[in-house]
Amino acid sequence: MNTASPKRIVILGATGSIGTQALDIVRSARGRFCVAGLSAHSSRQKLLALAQEFSCENYALTDEGGGDALESLIDRARAGIVINGIAGAAGLRPSIWTLERGIKLALANKETIVMAGSLIMRLAKEKNALLIPVDSEHSALFQLVTRIGKENIESVVLTASGGPFRERAQETFDSITAEEALRHPTWNMGKKITIDSATLANKGLEVIEAGYLFDLPAEKISVAIHPQSLVHSLATAKDGVLYAQISMPDMRHPILTALTYPAFEKNDFAKLDLARAVTTMSFSAPRIKDFPMLPLAFTALKAGQAACVAYNAANEIAVDAFLQKKIKFTQFESLTARVMEECESQNVNSFDDVFFADSQAREKAREIIGQEIRES
Ligand code: NDP
Ligand code: MG
Repeated sequence: MNTASPKRIVILGATGSIGTQALDIVRSARGRFCVAGLSAHSSRQKLLALAQEFSCENYALTDEGGGDALESLIDRARAGIVINGIAGAAGLRPSIWTLERGIKLALANKETIVMAGSLIMRLAKEKNALLIPVDSEHSALFQLVTRIGKENIESVVLTASGGPFRERAQETFDSITAEEALRHPTWNMGKKITIDSATLANKGLEVIEAGYLFDLPAEKISVAIHPQSLVHSLATAKDGVLYAQISMPDMRHPILTALTYPAFEKNDFAKLDLARAVTTMSFSAPRIKDFPMLPLAFTALKAGQAACVAYNAANEIAVDAFLQKKIKFTQFESLTARVMEECESQNVNSFDDVFFADSQAREKAREIIGQEIRES
């Protein structure tokens, strides 16, 4: 019998796709985890219902209380683990607050690493805080890299579903609508990351994320299209042998891993039975010419942190503009590349620098979109 007291979990972004699945895990493992804190941005009714269901007294609505409300939430909740499932750049500050307190961070918010990778990794080390990625590819790589040993890793391969336009002819990309881009073939996720999956900017962000999380140069990271989303990523050891992590595409796996690492815990999620499964696993090279947001992320990682901040900020503005029908699917890359060029020489040596560079890049992106609309 497990007599350990329940782990006190704070779930930031509790009403989102990651938050909902994290709460599913808590529901099915009652007694093991205790929901000590919850946050949402504007989904007041949903948040209140969750607070009631989990008898959780500490909750925050950031649209009303401001982002700072999350700092006191983490304190009031006496968090043992913080799950950061906030969408977008708003997730960075709460990641900093968590690590500053030496609290374990289960990190779904990839923007935290993309915007401030080396500063975040340094902070986690200084404070002796565990940082475990929840992004499925990085959760796979985290397991592979830590278990094989960082010193034995030669390179890594991130898998990508390829998104809804994997096979669509490039000539027709101009007419892609937001509704089409929001239909993801294998994962059910928030709007921002679903659009990013269609442009492959999500894989781009993940390339940058892998670079900083595992301290790998761009040359040691590659991407393979794997439409079945069963292999979550692979690592090549120094001897040339590839190691893969394979499971059903179910985000509860990486969330549970982040909560329980280094233990492997039994669960009731559907399991992949390869001996019985009528399935093929295929891998191919990405169409980098047709999906230029992917190679642009490699350029950003090579150029450094300011370029990564710019890539992330410009893309976030572009996603909003695309959803509002202000830009076309084919304009993501030119916009992002221009913002990167203008912003990549900024110094980014502190979190304050990151926030400054981020706001500059956003301003620049809005300016360019405004100009293009006036000219068209
Ligand atoms: P969703 O859009 O489904 O949920 C986002 C959550 O964050 C909601 O609870 C939302 O509250 C809250 N939120 C939105 N804006 C803000 C803000 N400005 N300040 C504070 N909270 C805010 O996103 P996902 O769950 O899909 O993604 C969350 C993060 O996890 C992203 O960084 C994504 O890249 C990453 N991720 C997600 C995966 C997935 O399968 N969904 C897979 C891998 C990574 P409200 O409901 O009130 O708007
Ligand atoms: Mg992912």
